[in-house]
Amino acid sequence: MSEIREVVIIGSGPAGYTAALYTARAQLRPLLFGSSIFVGGSLTTTTEVENFPGFPEGVDGPVLMENMRAQAEKFGAEMIDDDIVEVDLTGDIKLLTDSAGTVHRARTVIIATGSGYRKLGLPKEDELSGRGVSWCATCDGFFFRDRDIVVVGGGDTAMEEATFLTRFARSATVVHRRSTLRASKVMQDRAFADDKISFAFDSEIAEIKDTNGMLGGVVLRDVLTGVTRDLDVTGLFIAIGHDPRTELFTGQVELDGEGYIKVDSPSTRTNLPGVFAAGDVVDHTYRQAITAAGTGAAAALDAERYLASRN
Ligand code: FAD
Repeated sequence: MSEIREVVIIGSGPAGYTAALYTARAQLRPLLFGSSIFVGGSLTTTTEVENFPGFPEGVDGPVLMENMRAQAEKFGAEMIDDDIVEVDLTGDIKLLTDSAGTVHRARTVIIATGSGYRKLGLPKEDELSGRGVSWCATCDGFFFRDRDIVVVGGGDTAMEEATFLTRFARSATVVHRRSTLRASKVMQDRAFADDKISFAFDSEIAEIKDTNGMLGGVVLRDVLTGVTRDLDVTGLFIAIGHDPRTELFTGQVELDGEGYIKVDSPSTRTNLPGVFAAGDVVDHTYRQAITAAGTGAAAALDAERYLASRN
């Protein structure tokens, strides 16, 4: 039988690494499972991060994540680059099974599994991430000053992203597969009133062009006629939603209608005693590295208090 750990953390993004740092410094010897194929979380898929405080020159996403990991390891956090594939979080002692079938036991669990942006599923989409293709206007809008860009999506997020991006961009074309938007009226009105925004309805992105490793434009296809046309843009923002990574916890941890973990806000407590959740797996709204790190710190403090209250 494996030893009973005080804290096991699932997820190696800013939330998980920050929770590991805090619980390690609290002498709780955390064990973190950080995925077998995607160690370091979402920021490893981008290049320059300019909005994480403490880096006036900006910092490379993967470097920032390596630094977070090293800082937690320095204080004794143990990292395993593997997936947790099964959990039983309902008892006093939580059971977590890794991909080799080994069962790990813990008094508290911090879930920091993040969420994935929905993708178009087109060739070059991943390769050009951070090189003209983006899923986050707040993160990358600043890089598109005086550029022509395209935003894909018809919901509130797409309207918000397009409206925000026109602070920087010269023009934004919103591409939507249907003839009407899904966004709320107020968001639609705001977008329609913006001179810099134009709309390509009944349209989809047919091709993402790569010009020397940077986005070199897109091809639009009219979904009714099949006719294609080139759109000369240097930015493609994909705003078609995101999926929290919560499949593993369904039926145990309480989720909201969209599959995000419900917490007893402002704490990180879930419906299960000893189980806490932090970062984008909880957060519909802010979805930033710094907010994920912030709630990771809160989850560590909540876990620490929970353990202290039981001793
Ligand atoms: P994530 O970073 O998503 O990390 C979760 C990790 O948990 C992943 O590695 C995942 O594989 C792992 N995991 C999931 N399930 C399991 C399991 N069962 N077992 C083990 N591990 C598991 N934010 C900014 O503030 N500034 C930016 O400039 C910026 N740029 C971005 C650029 C891109 C391309 C993307 C995609 C996001 C960007 N963001 C940016 C957003 C930011 O990356 C996220 O808000 C942040 O990473 C969320 O952190 P997290 O710890 O909640 O989850």
